[in-house]
Amino acid sequence: MAEVLVYVDHVDGVVRKPTLELLALARRIGEPVAVALGNGAADTASALAGHGAARVLIHDASEYGEYLVVPKVDALRAAYEQVSPAAVLVSSSAEGKEIAARLALRIGSGIITDAVDLDAGDEGPVATQSVFAASYTTKSRVSKGTPVITVKPNSTAVAAAPAASIVESLPVAFSDQATGTKITGRTPRESTGRPELTEAAIVVSGGRGVGGAENFAIIEALADSLGAAVGASRAAVDAGWYPHTHQVGQTGKSVSPQLYIASGISGAVQHRAGMQTSKTIVAINKDPEAPIFDLADYGVVGDLFEVVPQLTEEIKARKD
Ligand code: FAD
Repeated sequence: MAEVLVYVDHVDGVVRKPTLELLALARRIGEPVAVALGNGAADTASALAGHGAARVLIHDASEYGEYLVVPKVDALRAAYEQVSPAAVLVSSSAEGKEIAARLALRIGSGIITDAVDLDAGDEGPVATQSVFAASYTTKSRVSKGTPVITVKPNSTAVAAAPAASIVESLPVAFSDQATGTKITGRTPRESTGRPELTEAAIVVSGGRGVGGAENFAIIEALADSLGAAVGASRAAVDAGWYPHTHQVGQTGKSVSPQLYIASGISGAVQHRAGMQTSKTIVAINKDPEAPIFDLADYGVVGDLFEVVPQLTEEIKARKD
C-alpha cells in the first residue's frame, strides 16, 4: 500500500488533535508514516501508533527550537526522500502552511492548502476546499509531483486505529539556510485555559451587539460551560473589546468547529468567510432580518443579554 507522510504537530511530545485528524485522512489514501521532530519527538510514538501510523520517523536537534521553519523543512525533505510517499499531509496552521509550501517548492510538486476533506481518487488524492467566503466548494488534485496538502483543523473526526508501529530514527543533514533565521525570544501567551480558537470543537463568538469589553464576560461564561474557545467579530475587536488574536473572518482566523455560536453578530460576508464551514451554526440576534440567520442551522431572535445567560445556566444545570 502507498505510504502517506504526515507531519506531526506536537508540544513536547503531546500530539495535537489536528495531527490525529491528518492520520485519519491519511488512512483513507494509504498507510500513514508520521514524522515527529524536536523536543519530545520520541514521546509521540504511542499516540501516533494508536491512530494508525505504521512507521514513526523521529529526529531531535536543538535547531528545531532555535531557528524558524527551515530545519523542519530539511527534515521533512529527508523523510520524503526516504519514504517516496504518495502524498504529504500537513496541518493548516501558519507554520504548517509555510513548511508545506517550502517542501513543495523544493521537490517540484503542486500544493493544495486549506483542504477541508480528502479522498483517495483514481489518479491521486482529491482535496475539497471551501472558497470565496465558502460560497463554493471545489475539488482539486495535484497534477505535478507528489501532492503536498495542508488540511484545516476540525475537517474530520479523530478515530483510534491501533497499528503495529515501527519507530525509526530519521537521519537529517541541515542545509546552510537552516540557521538563517534565529529565534531571539519567546513570550508565552497568558493561558485562558480555553482551547485554541482554530482547533476548538466549539466556538462562541461575540460581535458589536455585545456592546462593550466588560460584557464579553457573558460570552466567556457560555464558552466555559461548553469547553469552547471565544471568538469575536472585527467590529468587536476594532472597538477594543476583545483581543485581535480572537477575530474570526476574512482578515482574522478561519475556524471550522463542530458548533459555532454567533451572538450579536450580523453575519457580514467577511465574518462568514472565517466560520461558514462550521458544522452547526447557532445565531443569537435581536434583528430577525440579520443575514447571519441565512446560514444558521438554529436561530434565536432575542436580546443576547437575556438569551446567553439563560443558555449558560441551562447547560450548567444539565451537566450537573
Ligand atoms: P454589526 O454588523 O454592527 O452587527 C451587530 C449585530 O448585533 C446586529 O445584527 C444587531 O442586530 C445585533 N445586536 C445588537 N444588539 C444586540 C443584542 N442586545 N442582542 C442580540 N443581538 C444584538 N469582520 C469580521 O468579523 N471579521 C473579519 O475578518 C473582517 N474582515 C474584514 C475585511 C475587510 C476588507 C472589510 C472591509 C471588512 C471586514 N470585516 C470583518 C468587517 C465586516 O464587514 C463587518 O463590519 C463586521 O463583521 C461587523 O461586525 P458585527 O457583526 O459584530 O457588527
